[in-house]
Amino acid sequence: MRRDYYAVLGIAATAPPREIRQAYQRLARQYSPDVNFWDTAALALFEEIAEAYRVLSDPQARALYDRFGPALDADGVAAGRRGDDVHVTVEIDFADVARGATLRLNVPRFSPCGACGASGRRDSRACAVCQARGVRRAVDALTVVVPPGVDSGTQVRVPGEGSAGPFGGARGDLIVSTRVREHPLFTRTGDGVHCEIPIGVWEALRGARIRVPTPLDDTVLVVPPGTAAGQVFRLRGHGLPRLADGTTGDLYVTVRVEMPTGLDARTDELVRELERLLPGPSRADLARFRGGAS
Ligand SMILES: [Zn+2]
Repeated sequence: MRRDYYAVLGIAATAPPREIRQAYQRLARQYSPDVNFWDTAALALFEEIAEAYRVLSDPQARALYDRFGPALDADGVAAGRRGDDVHVTVEIDFADVARGATLRLNVPRFSPCGACGASGRRDSRACAVCQARGVRRAVDALTVVVPPGVDSGTQVRVPGEGSAGPFGGARGDLIVSTRVREHPLFTRTGDGVHCEIPIGVWEALRGARIRVPTPLDDTVLVVPPGTAAGQVFRLRGHGLPRLADGTTGDLYVTVRVEMPTGLDARTDELVRELERLLPGPSRADLARFRGGAS
């Protein structure tokens, strides 16, 4: 299936070691990744040239190769080398983190050339479609399952969905890096999720049951009577799933007490009434801190 190593280096099967070395040096210069760093075709060719030279420059490996042909390499392993891993990045929503997601991705990768059956040769000539490499670059639509609980920078490895190796080599892996979009309400620290919910003055005073959204659904937050602004309530198991063990983290709700402004005469009168009925703020002992004393 693989291209003949002698053909790769453009030499006769009877070439002496010096000729092999010269052919390699000339081709390596021509297809060096330092010169052709933008050209993935040149890189694949360069790797092929290096592999051919590795085998043919080693007398033992060359003897083995001459005996068993291009189907076996120096280690006696059949078929071409494994293809490269392919990396893609996807942006996902908070909801995808909570539930997991099945994504349809367009993945640019090398696949076996159909024109030459991945052999690199057609009608005993170099295949023009794949430049005799046996693989072609194409964009394939792949379905990738992202498990619940990933974070920005998580890498999901999909075995055997990367680039095909040249001349029938196995596929490398597809590596999907996730980036989680910011959410207008929720922020995430580790496996905890935080949000801020406004409550009314009367709710802070008298307590309330408030329906609050969670990353997965919604739930009821019980605000006890006498809740202060900035108080944090922990709702166990209403955060995000943990990637490691599938358990779910907690949701931390900070309450913000919304102050009414521009009171009308009637409300103002009622607040004055409250002022008389409710205990005053405990500021009495602040006086002793005056002047920085402690
Ligand atoms: Zn081809």
